[in-house]
Amino acid sequence: MLIKNVKFQEDSNENHSIYINDEGIIECIDCNNKDGEIIDAKGRLISKPFVNPHAHLGYALTLNYARHNLSGTLIEGVEIIREEVSQKITQEDLEKRLEKIIRMHFINGVFYVRSHDPVWNDVVFKMLKARDNPLVDIQVVAFPSPGFFFNENLEKIRKALEEGAEVVGLIPHSERSYEEGIKSVMVAFDLAVEYNKLIDGHVDETDDPNSRFSEVVAREALSRNYGSKTSISHMTASHSYDNWYFHKLTLLLREAGVSIISNPIVSMHLQGRYDNYPKRRGIARIRELINAGINVALGSDNVADPIYPLGDYNMLRVAQEAFLADHFTSNEINKLLDLITTNAYKALNIKTPQIREGEKAEFIILQTKTIYDAIRTALPPYLVVRGKHYAINEIKTRIDENEETDKIINIMDK
Ligand SMILES: [Zn+2]
Repeated sequence: MLIKNVKFQEDSNENHSIYINDEGIIECIDCNNKDGEIIDAKGRLISKPFVNPHAHLGYALTLNYARHNLSGTLIEGVEIIREEVSQKITQEDLEKRLEKIIRMHFINGVFYVRSHDPVWNDVVFKMLKARDNPLVDIQVVAFPSPGFFFNENLEKIRKALEEGAEVVGLIPHSERSYEEGIKSVMVAFDLAVEYNKLIDGHVDETDDPNSRFSEVVAREALSRNYGSKTSISHMTASHSYDNWYFHKLTLLLREAGVSIISNPIVSMHLQGRYDNYPKRRGIARIRELINAGINVALGSDNVADPIYPLGDYNMLRVAQEAFLADHFTSNEINKLLDLITTNAYKALNIKTPQIREGEKAEFIILQTKTIYDAIRTALPPYLVVRGKHYAINEIKTRIDENEETDKIINIMDK
C-alpha cells in the first residue's frame, strides 16, 4: 500500500509518501513508483497511534444488561455491576463485546489500552483469556475492587498476576478504614516487586479533600525506586485540596517520577454528585500537574456501562473535554495531544512506535492538517494502519467544513 501526500510535521508544507509491503512493514519513505493500493492523504498530518491508558473493558458496553443508575453515582454504578451485570459476563459474552470494543478503539486510532478488570467476579481471568488480537494491545490490571481486604481478593490478585496480568491495581480510599488504605498501598508494592509488575491504582477518586493516598503511593514509589512503573489514576480529590497541600504534593509526585492518569469525562460525570450548586468539577488538576513537570496522561475510563452511559473511545474528544473542564487556554491546545500519545506510552511503560523504514507500520493519519484542528473537531482519524491491518474513516462533509474553516482562519491571519 502506498500512502501519498502525508504531512510529517504540521509547520511544514512538505508532503511525503509511505510504502507498506505485504508483511505490514514500512519498506520505504518517499518512493513513489510502487504497485498496489494507493491512498491519497491530501496533506493530512501523521501521528503516533493514540493510547487509552485507563479503561474498564471487562464491563464496557453493558449498559443494557441491568437497571438504570438513577443517582448517577459511582457507588450505585458499582452496585449494579455487582448485583446484575457480573452474573451475565460469561467468557462468550466477554469475547463478543471485546470484539466490538477492539474495533471501536482501532477505528479511533487507539492501539494500546490499559484495562482495570476486577478479580472478585473473575472478569480479569476471562479478560486474560480473551485479549489476544492483532489490532489493539490490552494491558491488564488485576483490580482488587472494592479493596484488597474484601473476600478472597488478595489470593485472586496473586493468581491473576501469575496468569499474566501486567499491572497490580489498588483502591486505598475504598478500603474499610484509613489504616487498611495505607496497608493496601504497601501490599500493592510488595506484590509488584515480588512479581516484577507495574502499579496503577484508583487513588483518591472522591471529592473528599481528606482523601490523601496519592502521597502514600508516591512516597512508596520513591522509597522503592519504582516511579517509572507507577501510575496514579483519577486523583479527583486533588480538585478539592487546598492549594498549599496540592503544591507540596506536586513536589513529591515529581520527585517520585510517577505518572498521573486522569479521566476527565467520567470524572466530570461522577464527581460532585453529593454537592448542591455550585457543583465541583471533580477532576484531577491536569493543567497544574503538567506545569509542575509531572507526566500526565488521559484515559476514557468507562464506556456505555452502569457507571457512565456514553462514550466511544475517541481520545481526541477526551483531550477536548480536558481542555474544557480544566480551564486550558488556546496556546496550550497542541500539547494536549501528548496526553493521549507520548505521555500515555510513558505511563504504560511501553515503547513508542517509530515511523521509520524497516519498522512495522504503526501510525495514524489524522482527519486534519494540524493538531489544533484535530483537537478542535475531535474527528476520528482518516486512516489507521497497524501492520497488515488498516481502516479508513470517510467523513466527507465534515472535511469540506474543515476546509471552509481553514479558509476563515487564514483570512483572519492576514
Ligand atoms: Zn477507573
